[in-house]
Amino acid sequence: MLEKVVIANRGEIALRILRACRELGIKTVAIHSEADRDLKHVRLANESVCIGPAPSLQSYLNIPAIISAAEVTDAIGIHPGYGFLSENADFAERVEDSGFVFIGPKAESIRIMGDKVAAIEAMQKAGVPCVPGSDGELGEDGDTNIKIARKIGYPIIIKAAGGGGGRGMRVVHSEAALLNAISLTKAEAGAAFNNDTVYMEKYLEHPRHVEIQVLSDGQGNAIHLGERDCSMQRRNQKVVEEAPAPGITEEQRAKIGSVCVEACKLINYRGAGTFEFLYENGEFYFIEMNTRVQVEHPVTEMVTGVDIVKEQLYIASGHPLRLTQEDIVIRGHAVECRINAEHSETFMPSPGKVTAYHAPGGPGIRMETHLYSGYSVPPHYDSMIGKVIAHGDNRNTAIARMQGALSEIVIEGIDTNIALQMDIMKDAAFQAGGADIHYLEKKLGLA
Ligand code: ADP
Repeated sequence: MLEKVVIANRGEIALRILRACRELGIKTVAIHSEADRDLKHVRLANESVCIGPAPSLQSYLNIPAIISAAEVTDAIGIHPGYGFLSENADFAERVEDSGFVFIGPKAESIRIMGDKVAAIEAMQKAGVPCVPGSDGELGEDGDTNIKIARKIGYPIIIKAAGGGGGRGMRVVHSEAALLNAISLTKAEAGAAFNNDTVYMEKYLEHPRHVEIQVLSDGQGNAIHLGERDCSMQRRNQKVVEEAPAPGITEEQRAKIGSVCVEACKLINYRGAGTFEFLYENGEFYFIEMNTRVQVEHPVTEMVTGVDIVKEQLYIASGHPLRLTQEDIVIRGHAVECRINAEHSETFMPSPGKVTAYHAPGGPGIRMETHLYSGYSVPPHYDSMIGKVIAHGDNRNTAIARMQGALSEIVIEGIDTNIALQMDIMKDAAFQAGGADIHYLEKKLGLA
């Protein structure tokens, strides 16, 4: 087992990684910015290193500073968490070139999945169902592009190969708008992602977001842990996630799950990963693969009993997968609500001092947060300050427990989105299950 791990992240996920390491007897090094000295995991880690000023570019995205911290502390591995450098192939490469273990896939896998055109090509080869589209990047010839779009059928969506975080895409409803939309998306993508490659897909109008969690050891073994539904989104950002996805049958799960498992084996994938799909009229359409642990991993942990972060650490230590597909049984239902430091109606970020904090509790409730009374939420980073997860024998129980938990949490001194989350938990369409990815924005009057 890795003896000492640098946690190259902050907030709730840093604490989550620390807890997994502690359970496995792995020593931890917390790295943090000058604004993050008071983070909970910094106090709990065996060692800590301040790696730079508050802005992420100078701290959590500062590759040389992170590698130096690993060197001075004699660490063996580096866990990137999610966000920041977690899907940066150059970082993974430099970590390994410097003699450390990157707790994630090989740089090569990250690079392929980070280029959506290359990712779709790899997935098609592996037999993963994709959205009908241009099958590769769009060229300069207008007539050819018009023909491709006609063949796909409107509406279509132009997407940047290097896009991420819901940026770099544009929906086109008619041929008249096509060529202009392609040039605009290309120009924006060049400026934002330093890569102006764009491609075309059929625009699905009422899909759900359903994703498959996998674990693969890079030694020929891979399993899936079932699916999550993350259709409650605002601006392409997930707000609520659940497992299993309402209405997905065991046969469907086994079928799409085994397609993902085979793809992992084919690309010799190493680590935890997620295949994201749009799901419409009973069909799955691959959109992208995330090569890291995800914010919503706990709902899968609650229904499978598998600790995904611990399995990441085992895989990175060189252990063959400890579980087989037969070991994975889905029990009950779990729902996660992201808690953000932002106003429930205006979504204005609300950093500042938390004057009082009380955690929710009771059967089936799990709280993942770095908050404590007196902690100041810095203004420099993402507004997510925690996640509440509720598990129950069935979906109704999980939702009822979530409502109880949301009513118990006390966070004073800053605004949070708890009222919005309660509203969603009481919403008839959410309670019925199966709402599409546009539902929340329509409910909020944004779409
Ligand atoms: P990102 O990497 O920016 O998250 P994705 O490819 O995962 O980009 O797409 C993000 C979101 O954009 C999806 O969850 C979905 O809401 C919307 N989207 C992407 N492709 C399509 C499509 N072909 N049809 C409909 N919606 C899409």
